[in-house]
Amino acid sequence: RAQEEQVWKSRLATTADDTRVAVFANVGDEETARTAALAGAEGIGLLRTEFLFGGRPVFPSEEEQFKSYVALFKAFLENTELGKSIIVRTLDAGADKPFPALEPIIGELQEANPALGLRGIRIHLKHEELLRQQLRALLLAAGKTGVDLHIMFPMIATVEEVRRVKQIYSAVHTEIVAAGKAVPTQVHLGIMVETPAAAIMAEELAREVDFFSIGANDLYQYTMAVDRTNSRVTGMFSTVEPAVLRMIARIAEAGQKYGKLVAVCGELGANPQVAPALVGMGVRELSMSPPSIARIKAVLHRQPLTYWQDLATKLLAAETAADIQQILAENE
Ligand code: PEP
Ligand code: MG
Repeated sequence: RAQEEQVWKSRLATTADDTRVAVFANVGDEETARTAALAGAEGIGLLRTEFLFGGRPVFPSEEEQFKSYVALFKAFLENTELGKSIIVRTLDAGADKPFPALEPIIGELQEANPALGLRGIRIHLKHEELLRQQLRALLLAAGKTGVDLHIMFPMIATVEEVRRVKQIYSAVHTEIVAAGKAVPTQVHLGIMVETPAAAIMAEELAREVDFFSIGANDLYQYTMAVDRTNSRVTGMFSTVEPAVLRMIARIAEAGQKYGKLVAVCGELGANPQVAPALVGMGVRELSMSPPSIARIKAVLHRQPLTYWQDLATKLLAAETAADIQQILAENE
């Protein structure tokens, strides 16, 4: 098996009948970008930009952000021949991701229900200059390095939020072009689908964006009402729940209906039993931590798409987590 996985480090992933599935990496710093490329990542499917803002007393300047993105993009590009797509998530602070450098700007982060509080895109829509700064730094870094830039916004719950971030993005883009600076000819704009509200509004949201990336960790937390930071209930995350799979399936269906790429970037996508079923539901990009990449590519190649679609259909008919477990075990 080790040998099989070695081969996949330099190959693009497909099912046995050649349906393409992009296998990307979740990356949180420059070093991991390099590791990801060497592990066979075909792109970066989730660049968690929190690394830039955490563990420091002062918020990084736009110039500093630009330099960090350039260095990280290069670390990936220089170590792979498989692709140059990079999906960057704008700052996803708040809740379980507290940042002292933000407090002077947005105020005290202590909240009674942080998972339901001022987090992700909500911070950026309240403090738009922070978003503009990050977008400018990203566009300029992509213009300099030639990556295929995708930008995605976390914790989206409404269509209005998406329309507002698109307006802000357009204004920033226009301003940079007017200043005569190099920007990529095409930038893809997408959202994390990780709240039940976004899942329910998936069709309307699909019309607004270029792609979806399902944040299976938060989607699980909010669908099952399980706090991902509370060790008394986090054990539940190892159970594959029918409610969560059905939620994912409806998101994938909405994306497909409008011809938009649907990705999964939560931990579920790295589960070798579940990942091919996600592809069966219509997911065409999986993003995961680098050590899982080669394994998942090998698993996807074992059967044709129709087989994975049948598996998905069986799982979506299951009434309990135990039934799901049994179907997955029989499939091994
Ligand atoms: C998720 O919510 O599934 C996700 C990928 O993002 P994070 O774990 O950073 O919230
Ligand atoms: Mg999340």
